[in-house]
Amino acid sequence: MTKKILVLPGDGIGPEIVAEATKLLNALRRDHGLDVELEEAPVGGAGYDAAGVPLPDDTLELAREADAVLLGAVGGPQYDTLDWELRPERGLLGLRAELNLFANLRPAILYPQLASASALKPEIVGGLDIMILRELTGGAYFGEPRGIRIRDDGVREGVNTIVYNEHEIERIARSGFDIAMKRGKRLCSVDKANVLEVSQLWREVVVRVAADFPQVELSHMYVDNAAMQLVRAPKQFDVIVTENMFGDILSDAAAMLTGSIGMLPSASLNSEGRGMYEPIHGSAPDIAGQGVANPLATLLSVSMMLRYSLKEGALAERVDVAVSRVLDRGLRTPDIWTEDCEKVGTVAMGDAVVAALEP
Ligand code: NAD
Repeated sequence: MTKKILVLPGDGIGPEIVAEATKLLNALRRDHGLDVELEEAPVGGAGYDAAGVPLPDDTLELAREADAVLLGAVGGPQYDTLDWELRPERGLLGLRAELNLFANLRPAILYPQLASASALKPEIVGGLDIMILRELTGGAYFGEPRGIRIRDDGVREGVNTIVYNEHEIERIARSGFDIAMKRGKRLCSVDKANVLEVSQLWREVVVRVAADFPQVELSHMYVDNAAMQLVRAPKQFDVIVTENMFGDILSDAAAMLTGSIGMLPSASLNSEGRGMYEPIHGSAPDIAGQGVANPLATLLSVSMMLRYSLKEGALAERVDVAVSRVLDRGLRTPDIWTEDCEKVGTVAMGDAVVAALEP
């Protein structure tokens, strides 16, 4: 049956990089038997411009009907003064919550061709291939009570609340063990159980779920130590599972181990495996419209979409191989360029990946 993909270009470089992803999907459709139909809609600042809100009703409806959503990025300085509820990022948070996308998968892979782009020594990061699984719909970003209030003595105070119930913890823990089973069978659960009660419950539930996955070696680490270990010896990890805010921070740190934020895809899945796929970077307003943005993170997001939501593992592999071949050929967008390589723009990079799909 034809699968539906909703394409949300968003803001800044979003439309430029998503155009390359659409080109790739159309090539897979035309030449490699991928049975999908694409629809496009506005979100973020583009949603605000089109309909006065960052997540227009029509966009949400299409997202609910889609088998997978491909997002570019949202945000831009022209929207920074809008009311909180109208900010582009609210569109993203709204989509995650409405589609119940609780599991955020962020691989951090260092391509051997880009080893010199990492700030760390090659012996520390060479061959790095870790997966960070971040819980995406709970914790401090959604917990109540929240807000800025005025105390009786007139002093203002800001409040956010980290809340997780045991069902939410169990759900993400199971995803973590499932992913570990498909990889190196090692799962590290990151928490702050020495200080936070919510982390104590987290740890207790993760240990309970571990009984169902005797083949997976489970370890626990405090988040401050995990941040240090990611930079000191990142290859010790296989899969990391953690709560929303810890995952937000650790996955950005892991991203930088690989050299360029323009290389890393992500997937956010619900319990039925439907998902939203997006590069981990933002809308890069500083380079928007110049045709220099790196589209590879978005193309690799298409690969994750093929693998996790469309169950087209062979085509996903074909895309991964094509990206690797293009890097082998020495093609680089400016963010990953070094002197011995050929500098290309967004469109040329997309074209090269499509051409490299052929055997
Ligand atoms: P950013 O990721 O947009 O940019 C950080 C730096 O990385 C910039 O110098 C940018 O030019 C560069 N960069 C990012 N993606 C690149 C690519 N594909 N190719 C080449 N270089 C790339 O982060 P920021 O500057 O902190 O945020 C800009 C806007 O994006 C803000 O409005 C922010 O709220 C938003 N944002 C959106 C998302 C999202 O949509 N998921 C995520 C993060 C930030």
